[in-house]
Amino acid sequence: MISDSEYRPPRRFWIGRRLWISAACAVLLFTTVSGLILAHAFFQTFLRARHDAAGVERFRQVLETANDISAERAPSNILMGGETALSRSRLQAARARTNRDLAREAGIVPAKLLQETARLLGRARALVDRAAAQPVPRREAIQQAIEAQFAAYDGYRAVITAEAALLMRTDSGLAAPVQFALILCTLRDDGGRLGSVVVPALITHEAISERDISARDRLAGRMAIQWELLDLGANLTDRGSGLFALRANAEAAFFGDGQPLVARVIEEGTHAERYTETIETLNDRYIRTLAPLEIWRNSFLDGLLSHYRQRERHAFELLWVVSAVMLAVIGLIAGMVLLVHMRVLRPLLQASEAVVRLVHDRPVTLPFRHHGGRELQPLFEALGILRDKLQERAIQTRHLKHLAETDELTQLLNRRALEMLAEPVMEAETPEEQVFLILSDIDHFKAINDRYGHGEGDRVLVAVAGALRAQVRPGDLVARVGGEEFAVLTRTRHLMDALSLAHRLHQAVRDLDVRNADAGRIVVTASFGVAAGKGLTWRQFMAKADVALYAAKRAGRNTVRVAEADSAGPEHAA
Ligand code: GH3
Ligand code: MG
Ligand code: MG
Repeated sequence: MISDSEYRPPRRFWIGRRLWISAACAVLLFTTVSGLILAHAFFQTFLRARHDAAGVERFRQVLETANDISAERAPSNILMGGETALSRSRLQAARARTNRDLAREAGIVPAKLLQETARLLGRARALVDRAAAQPVPRREAIQQAIEAQFAAYDGYRAVITAEAALLMRTDSGLAAPVQFALILCTLRDDGGRLGSVVVPALITHEAISERDISARDRLAGRMAIQWELLDLGANLTDRGSGLFALRANAEAAFFGDGQPLVARVIEEGTHAERYTETIETLNDRYIRTLAPLEIWRNSFLDGLLSHYRQRERHAFELLWVVSAVMLAVIGLIAGMVLLVHMRVLRPLLQASEAVVRLVHDRPVTLPFRHHGGRELQPLFEALGILRDKLQERAIQTRHLKHLAETDELTQLLNRRALEMLAEPVMEAETPEEQVFLILSDIDHFKAINDRYGHGEGDRVLVAVAGALRAQVRPGDLVARVGGEEFAVLTRTRHLMDALSLAHRLHQAVRDLDVRNADAGRIVVTASFGVAAGKGLTWRQFMAKADVALYAAKRAGRNTVRVAEADSAGPEHAA
């Protein structure tokens, strides 16, 4: 609130600080909320997408290993058909690939399952090598080796199942594509097994047995069912472009070439036991009919993986966008606070400060145009008008005050002004500095008027005022208190000081050299009464000095008298 009390600048600092504290709270709140959103985006979306992508990648690797375990069977069959340097080196390469796959999975898939696969695979390889080492191939040994290789693949199936289950548990959305990939993988393996049915008979040049035929029928039936299952999940092949074409290729190659090829070998082995295919030619031709199936499967898994990698990328981008938006909003809040501070708050504080300064009649610097917003401009214009008006009024007031306090003729203080100024001086009196009043009245002034005229009389009054003013010290008050009566209020240590001042005043008046119209000197004298003001009211003080002045008059004028110490009683000459 603005009061008439002493001027104190407004506490602008606190208002600005409050604004900044509010802004900091808003930023804190916003940061918390967006931090939660960010954490959600990070953990629920980004980390999950990354985890899923890594899972799909691993699953793809596991299926790759399964494929290589299956694929190891072809060179094994050829080797068992007759060991050559080429067949041995092909098998070594296939085995090395499988070993690499399994080594890569160590530490990723459960060690127990991996160990079991390795054991079964080692057994199968040993049986293959043993069968291949026989000079004349024996059907049971070959059959046993083939069965052992199936068993190795079946052992690895546990790893595939565990991996698939893990993937489906982390993201139920992955269940369908995982199932689809599993079927594709099994289809490829069963395709291989179907070809293996005729291998022992073909190597030993023996007849195809009933057991072989029923094994073929069983596998063919299983593959037909799997193919139908793939048709149920056909929409999944939409995932990548060209997958439909790959599927058609795989179907045409397997059912158009692969299966009829095996059927022809069975036909030959059942009736004539004279085969037109050797184990090498059968292998080469049959494997080629399975290749499109592998391509289809790989393309499908590539598509799935790239889908999940893309999801991971999108999640990462989302993370960036959310972070950027968050930072932008925080910046915006800070910017807005700064703007409000600079364009509104600061100018308003300046305005309020200006009003307070105006009220206390202190200098105000305008305009505020450079700081305030456009909306605040009228306020500052109004303030400018107010300041100008107040200044105008202050000048008028000062002028009126001057008029009210000053004697127009002599420019000394008038009686009322002296009274107003004397009171605080009297109240501030100390034992070291007492207040004295010297009253003076021009002697026979009426006669001067009468003799020289009223105008000359005025000149005498002005001259006397000048003489008095010339004698006093700064801080002493000189006033014209009546027609030709003057008063000097002074503060001195002793009465003697005041008295000597009165004598100096007396002498100064006497020494005045006022000339009349005829250049004759107007003799001017005045009488003086001196009084001490201690313990008196202003009225009593004046009355006491007046008594002393009256005494001077009575004593014949042109002299100085001091009032009695305690009253307006008898007086004595100095
Ligand atoms: P005394 O020695 O007893 O003081 O005699 P005096 O004539 O000075 O006393 P008195 O009070 O009778 O006369 C004062 C005169 O001063 C009367 C008045 O006409 C004159 N006077 C008062 N004011 C003014 C003024 O402003 N100008 C002029 N020229 N004369 C004034
Ligand atoms: Mg007089
Ligand atoms: Mg008089």
